[in-house]
Order: sequence, then structure tokens, then C-alpha cells
Amino acid sequence: MPELPEVETIKEDLRGLVVGSEIKRAEVLDTSLVEQPSTEEFTGRLEGTGITDARRRAKHLIVELDSGDSLVFQLKIGGQLLLVPPVEEPETALMLVLYLDGERRLFLRDETSFTRARLLGAGELEERLSSLGPEPLEGGFTVEYLPREIGARRAQIKPLLLDQKVVSGIGNIYVDEILYDAKLHPRRKANTLSEGEWRALYEAIRSNLAAGVEHRGTTVRLYRDVLDRPGEHQNYLRVFEKQGQPCPRCKGEVEREKVSGRPSHFCPDCQREDGSGNGGGVESLW
Ligand SMILES: [Zn+2]
Repeated sequence: MPELPEVETIKEDLRGLVVGSEIKRAEVLDTSLVEQPSTEEFTGRLEGTGITDARRRAKHLIVELDSGDSLVFQLKIGGQLLLVPPVEEPETALMLVLYLDGERRLFLRDETSFTRARLLGAGELEERLSSLGPEPLEGGFTVEYLPREIGARRAQIKPLLLDQKVVSGIGNIYVDEILYDAKLHPRRKANTLSEGEWRALYEAIRSNLAAGVEHRGTTVRLYRDVLDRPGEHQNYLRVFEKQGQPCPRCKGEVEREKVSGRPSHFCPDCQREDGSGNGGGVESLW
């Protein structure tokens, strides 16, 4: 599903393309989209409002309206927002159409129909976002933050990084690339990481997400920007879905295994489960 770099790209597109527009009418084509309020209230409260801003928090895409409401999308794996024109009108898997001024329409389509939307008042929005961990590309996310928050946990590092309450915006693609750069096996227990490993992890989080934003997201399958263009970061992946291929660092073979229920891709030579070879973790007795 779209992670921080993909939602950030869509947000920037919306800022450039639809902020300042008026929503003339809203049409919900798949009522499973609207979690809050009722579909009738959702469309009624959208109609006639102006779009004043677009922003992102974690993987949430937030469209600010001059009514004081926020339209919040949780884009799932197939979720696409497409602006017509210039994009050709999509015909399948439509969930929502926002009719804008100037004969333009913003389509939400999702082949998997897992995308969800909420229309929230100011207090409701802040409450909904309050449990999220810090934004990893912002100043509040320091090198000390992760060891302080999770450094005593015996849990595996990969599911901890995917936990949006720990840190915001990381999903299953970027986490595998981050752990590869930090030379950490996805099953490493957080409480076994050395100071050097925490620093490497911090730097890998920042550099991988920043590169993903710079490359306008990763299109492994369905992700598109608002103008229906794929991202480019898939060309820079080293381990995600590269099982059986050589590790770019050591030429060993990239493996795929489930870790905490998620398909995980790593180099078993560079990312040792016991932490050896990294100057951290459990030292070899030999
Ligand atoms: Zn390797």
C-alpha cells in the first residue's frame, strides 16, 4: 500500500493541481469507502466547499476544506486519485468522484476496494492522529528517539518499524530496504541492537524515505500519481521482491521469508539474525 513517499507525492500533486478548487458535487460509487459519517452526510458536507490545502500525516492523505472539515483518505494497495482531465476518465473500480469547478473531476479508484475515507471536524481529526509516532523526515525524529522508545523491547525490529505508533509512514516495501541498508535481520530483537546499529537504522530510515520522495514513489504494481504516472523508486530497490537475485553488496542470494506475517526480503549474509558481523548483537563465541 502507499507508504510515506507515495502519499507525499500525491499530496504535492494535489497542492499543485486542485488546491483552490471548489467541490461542486460528490458522488460515492462504492459505499464501503465512507467510514464516517453516513454516505449521505459525507456527500452533503462536501458539496459547495473549497479545497484550501492538502497535507500528509503518516500514510493519511488529508484534504482541507474551507468548511473546517478535513477529508481524510487511507489509500490502500490499489488506491489511486486521478485528475480528469488531463488523465483519461477511468471506467472501472471507481469509489468516489469529486466534481470540481472548470469541468474537472477527481476520481478515486481502487481495484481492491480497500481504500477508506472519512470526513472529520477539526477536533475529530486531531484525536484520530494523536496516537501516531513522529514523522521520520521531520526534526522530532532524532537519532536518540528509537533507542529511547523501543530499545528495551524484546520484539522483532521489523514489526516495530511497521507500527505506526512507533514511527509514522513506513510500510512493507521501504522497511525491507531500510533493514538492508542498516544490515539488520528483520527478526533481530530491538533490545540487542548496538548504538552503532541504532545510528545506521536511523540513517537508513531517513535516506530511504527521502530517496522514495525524490523518485516520486515506488510502483511495484498499482501505485500511480494524480496524473496516472508511475513512480521511479522501484528502479532503486535492492531486496524487496528480489528473492533469488544477487545481493548488490556481497553477491550472496536475497531470500524471502515471512516475518511476523509479512513477506520479508533480506540478504542472510549481510543481515545476520544473530547480529554478528555488525559489531552488535550477540557476539559469536568463536
Ligand atoms: Zn549481502
